Amino acid sequence: MRQALDEAAQAAPAGDVPVGAVVLGPDGALLAAGHNEREATGDPTAHAEVLALRRAAAALGSWRLTGCTLVVTLEPCTMCAGALVQSRIGRVVYGARDEKAGAAGSLWDVVRDRRLNHRPEVIHGVLEDVCAGLLTSFFRDR
Ligand SMILES: [Zn+2]
Repeated sequence: MRQALDEAAQAAPAGDVPVGAVVLGPDGALLAAGHNEREATGDPTAHAEVLALRRAAAALGSWRLTGCTLVVTLEPCTMCAGALVQSRIGRVVYGARDEKAGAAGSLWDVVRDRRLNHRPEVIHGVLEDVCAGLLTSFFRDR
């Protein structure tokens, strides 16, 4: 989560909401990282999780991220939750909850929907106060 927080801090200079994500391989080694780049790139899908998943798949040479873990500072939205299910990732770890748009337990629980064919393990609340604090100070400064 510390690495995801370091990534999150890289989003703010471009005016992007500070959210960061990393993907760890089955052995726990860092495969890829990403931070929000919607403002920086003008791409509506450039969320930290999507970028980290794409880079991890490129690093592995496969879209299947079986046994991998995605760690993200903020609870994934519906798009990212869908991408996580599609990637067959083994575990999702997030820090701050997103009561307004979260799709991993708050507003929806897409990643653990029993109607889908893949459901990663979810762990939340890791360094929650630090992750939430980064967002609070970003929006306070705006
Ligand atoms: Zn998202």
